[in-house]
Amino acid sequence: MKTAKRLELIPPYLFAEIGRKIRAKREQGVDVISLGIGDPDVPTPDEIIDEAVRDLRDANDPDRHRYGGDAPVPEYPQAVADYYQQRFGVALDPKTEVLTTIGSKDGIAHVPWAFIDAGDVALVPQPGYPVYNIGTLFAGGESYLMPLRPDNGWLPDLEAIPSDIARRARLMWLNYPNNPTAATATLEFFQQAVDFAREHDILLCHDAPYAEIAYDGYRAPSILQAEGAKDVAIEFNSLSKHFNMTGWRIGMAVGNKEAVAALGLVKENCDSGVLRAIQFAGAKALRDLPNYGEKISREVYKPRLDMVVSTLNKIGWDLKPPQATFYIWAPVPDGFDGSSARFAEHLLETAGVVVTPGRSYGEAGEGFFRISLTYPEARLREAMQRIEQALR
Ligand SMILES: *Cc1c(COP(=O)(O)O)cnc(C)c1O
Repeated sequence: MKTAKRLELIPPYLFAEIGRKIRAKREQGVDVISLGIGDPDVPTPDEIIDEAVRDLRDANDPDRHRYGGDAPVPEYPQAVADYYQQRFGVALDPKTEVLTTIGSKDGIAHVPWAFIDAGDVALVPQPGYPVYNIGTLFAGGESYLMPLRPDNGWLPDLEAIPSDIARRARLMWLNYPNNPTAATATLEFFQQAVDFAREHDILLCHDAPYAEIAYDGYRAPSILQAEGAKDVAIEFNSLSKHFNMTGWRIGMAVGNKEAVAALGLVKENCDSGVLRAIQFAGAKALRDLPNYGEKISREVYKPRLDMVVSTLNKIGWDLKPPQATFYIWAPVPDGFDGSSARFAEHLLETAGVVVTPGRSYGEAGEGFFRISLTYPEARLREAMQRIEQALR
């Protein structure tokens, strides 16, 4: 059977080898601790679950089992608009400037279908979430990689983008607070990006799933707070990380009307929306738990973050704790030729701990590795003790 050439565009999975080694270790009976995946371990808050169960059982709602796209719940886009107003001071029309998505990945993967023709360019940060690049390639476009570097605070250098590339570009991706680097961006930087997008007639796509996972009073801005942003920008946001709802699949695309409509048209032809009970539950989360992200950051992630950073600093790193996200992004120590894969394999061999090699987020991630804090305190503590012993 012949598969489409499109599948050959997906970059090879560089760490298949590590995956094999993890399985082999587990088969040998080694208790491998993975710190590799960013998926909250704490359950969804009860209020949200109760709302969904009530809606599923609500015999007065004759549409509760139906296609959520044909029977949308207006409370959800209204709750999104209210959240943007209260949290960011950004006014959104829930009918034309808010689109319900099946998690943000859905919107991210599909927006290139609405804006990229063969030969068009998307400006894609690297290291970064792989879907920005792969969504572009699937739509027949080309990615121009914008390297993120520590000496620039992991922000892309917009002035370094060649003018012929800027001319062919239709989309630009940004993601702050950032996965994998945990970097944050200021509203001033967002303003520069908006001005750049206006100048070059580019749709600016900002991916903001970590906006509420933040520490010590830090409040991440929305790109829609920049002046003129709604003329050129769309922001992808999600309940996944804010409310521990990754499996529920509900998110939002907000901002520029034309982009919202164009993405909506693509999606109408790909999916049939989100289950109504989940839309109601999403509205409930946004409306009634506005401080949940702040609370889980402070009570759950912050103690874990401090423990990981202090352990690594005790054994030779010099890390500043990040202001946001549930990731620690750290340089590979001496002795591994800067190879994140070799370091990750070494940790697996000597400590039975899995970290994500930076190289898996693209070449620009080489020399770094990522630890996710979405593992129970005790497991994370044990992992850090093992790393300390192995590397001391
Ligand atoms: C987790 C994540 C997403 C996707 O989240 P959804 O569950 O699809 O909402 C998107 N972008 C980044 C950078 C992420 O880390």
